Amino acid sequence: TERPWDVAVLGAGAAGLMAAAVAGRRGASVLVLDHAAEAGRKILISGGGRCNFTHLDAGPERFLSRNPHFARSALARYTPRDFLALVEKHRIAWHEKTPGQLFCDESARRIVTLLLDEAQAAGAALRLRVRVNDIEKGEAFRLVTDHGDVLARRVILATGGLAVPKLGATDFALRMAQRFGMRLVPPAPALVPLTLTSPAPDLAGVALPVAARIGKTVFSDAMVFTHRGISGPAILQISSYRSGDGPPLELDLLPGMSAEAEMRRIKQARPRAGAAALLEGIPQRLGRAITAEMLPDFTDHLANLPDRRIAALARRVSAWSPDISGTEGYAKAEVMRGGIDTRDLSSQTMESRLVPGLYAIGEAVDVTGWLGGYNFQWAWSSGYVAGIGAAS
Ligand code: FAD
Repeated sequence: TERPWDVAVLGAGAAGLMAAAVAGRRGASVLVLDHAAEAGRKILISGGGRCNFTHLDAGPERFLSRNPHFARSALARYTPRDFLALVEKHRIAWHEKTPGQLFCDESARRIVTLLLDEAQAAGAALRLRVRVNDIEKGEAFRLVTDHGDVLARRVILATGGLAVPKLGATDFALRMAQRFGMRLVPPAPALVPLTLTSPAPDLAGVALPVAARIGKTVFSDAMVFTHRGISGPAILQISSYRSGDGPPLELDLLPGMSAEAEMRRIKQARPRAGAAALLEGIPQRLGRAITAEMLPDFTDHLANLPDRRIAALARRVSAWSPDISGTEGYAKAEVMRGGIDTRDLSSQTMESRLVPGLYAIGEAVDVTGWLGGYNFQWAWSSGYVAGIGAAS
């Protein structure tokens, strides 16, 4: 066997490559291992191929975690502006899609190249197509791989979460955390399309702005019907907040107005119109489906539609609680929520409180960002502090 490396980084994704570059710059000998044939595969397909690499408003309130304060320190030490400075240093053209949400102009590959260049300049070695199967702790850590053993004084777990197995996701980080006595917050698919108990395949493709609400959490954005249920940014965002025993999901299909007041106004203004006039504010196919459901027998003029039936229709439109059967699962989830319990990690360095020298970063940790560049920012910030911690 070779001499021990100062730092072994497991996973050449967003968080791992950042940690490797930072640890290398601080003078540590660094080895990065990944079982994929290519580094940063998730980065390559991210943001529709343009990589939404950060969000300028990435405060801890834009993340879900059992400890909502855990992310604060890392996010403050390595901010969205810090990553943006790195992007500019590499002369990567970028744009702001919605306020604060930054994308590459050209290709997500530019971000992977940035990270590989930074890691290489810092002297980090990268070995691809090496699967790590186990970690044993002796005087140093022994990494058991399908290409023999590797020794390292410090180990950074950066193998990500369970989302999108076909891009190389594994349960390795969760398995190792448990093996070393760290607790887990139950993982689940997040930023994921929802499935309906009675999907309406004829509505597939219908898109509209909605306000999606669970309890006090509301996202106002686009929604789209799919063959099996509902998706679009508003649905992906709110999907992260579902819980078995929590309040139900409610969708306002006419956000920003009182549906009932609007419908009464239409009744007054156009008494001789049919019921369809009440739903002119939403896409026609959906409007027709809702009137067929709520007013199946009504073929008269609006003037003759009782106000209580208008009130019921308005509730169906402004506070629809769809019957949700589940999610499209890890195959379609953008991230995993839950993961390594932050109680067992230092928020300053991401080092395990139970196993000195073992660090965990990125999606493997119970810190899950909203849609919009937050998950990469967490990868950069947690990777940065762990890189410094592991090199010192
Ligand atoms: P990963 O990037 O998943 O890296 C983990 C690495 O570990 C992988 O390279 C994997 O091959 C390797 N690995 C796993 N197990 C082993 C093992 N046993 N041995 C060796 N190697 C192993 N977030 C944003 O902020 N903006 C976006 O635009 C965005 N778009 C996305 C689009 C899609 C379709 C998806 C699926 C996700 C998107 N995300 C986005 C989320 C973001 O990609 C992740 O949050 C982020 O990649 C997590 O980084 P990570 O380094 O923790 O894990």
